[in-house]
Amino acid sequence: MAERDRRTQRTPGTAPWSREELQEIRDGLLAHFDAEARDLPWRGDPDPYRILVSEVMSQQTRLETVVPYYRRWMERFPELADLANAEEEEVLALWQGLGYYSRARNLRAAAREVARRYGGRLPDREDELRTLPGIGPYTAGAVASIAFGRPVPAVDGNVRRVLARLRNEPDPSPPTLRSWAGALVDPHRPGDFNQALMELGASICSPRSPDCHRCPLGRHCAGREAGRVEQLPARRPRGPVPHSHARVLVLRVSAGDGVDRYLLRRRPPRGLLARMWEFPEEGLLSCILRDAPTGLPDAPTGENTPTESGSSRGDAAFFGDDASGGNRGLPLEPVDHLFSHRRVTYHPRLVPLPPPPPAPPAGSGEGDVFKWVDETGLADLPIPVAQRLILAMARAIPDPRG
Ligand code: SF4
Repeated sequence: MAERDRRTQRTPGTAPWSREELQEIRDGLLAHFDAEARDLPWRGDPDPYRILVSEVMSQQTRLETVVPYYRRWMERFPELADLANAEEEEVLALWQGLGYYSRARNLRAAAREVARRYGGRLPDREDELRTLPGIGPYTAGAVASIAFGRPVPAVDGNVRRVLARLRNEPDPSPPTLRSWAGALVDPHRPGDFNQALMELGASICSPRSPDCHRCPLGRHCAGREAGRVEQLPARRPRGPVPHSHARVLVLRVSAGDGVDRYLLRRRPPRGLLARMWEFPEEGLLSCILRDAPTGLPDAPTGENTPTESGSSRGDAAFFGDDASGGNRGLPLEPVDHLFSHRRVTYHPRLVPLPPPPPAPPAGSGEGDVFKWVDETGLADLPIPVAQRLILAMARAIPDPRG
């Protein structure tokens, strides 16, 4: 058979590549991976639990960020049973700073399911993995292929970009992507192949300015041949991100023993930042503020309104009593935080109170709790990044009463 005929002979089924093309793509990509793969702590260790943790942590997060979290996690929860038996609060505390906290909650829930249903051993089939909390098609494919050597695809955002460019297809559907990735995956080294494809998308085939000259798939890339690489895949239109503001109060009691205590609230068990601890919004604290004198000097009217561009703190830093608490305390710098689908600007104010700490407000229901926490306790609680920034600002300000 002539060279050209052999190269264009298609494999049966849905694969858009000939057998020879498939082999060239697999060999080229795996050789590149063998030479260039990043040294990551979970590579070379096929322990399914470790692969699962690394895959969940890596979702929407840069690998450089993941590595120290992964190491700390494995020190604390080296086995699946350690995670299954851990308190949720400790799991969230270890995850703080990584964001998307539902991943941590689901990981713990999945570990408990595996302990209960599978005797502590992760199932090796994609369909069984997908029945576990938080495990979707991508994670199931990654774990099944990397940890168990199953020849199944794993399509994340990086793989979508590489495949769209390879096929010169602006917006391939999820089933199409899965069928392409499934046709490509190397039956002898499926885990390495899937990692190689992801890593190609994360490094060489980047969203902007891909380095096609270094790409092991260059000669098979229809998007490159068509000169359309920069337009592939098509960007999905995004609506405006909702933006809200929250006025929060940092109530602090500085006792004579030099230990500061802060009033924190645990958020309800469902919704954004579920069960994480935060400084309460001022509307929840009016009962405390109404009864508790601060002993702080009054401030001139009009210097207490936070702005989006920065703190309104002036020379007259402290503000007088107000029955609602709205004009109390020292304005700190606003903190802007982008969640997955919304943006919140926090406008914090520091309110020093004399000892003893007043009784915390009653929460609104299940899991909604207020409590005074000292420095030791702060280290152990899951507190989101934006709230940690507020805490750092408050810590830097000494008690104005000396
Ligand atoms: S040739 Fe360029 S566009 Fe095509 S897969 Fe490689 S890096 Fe991506």
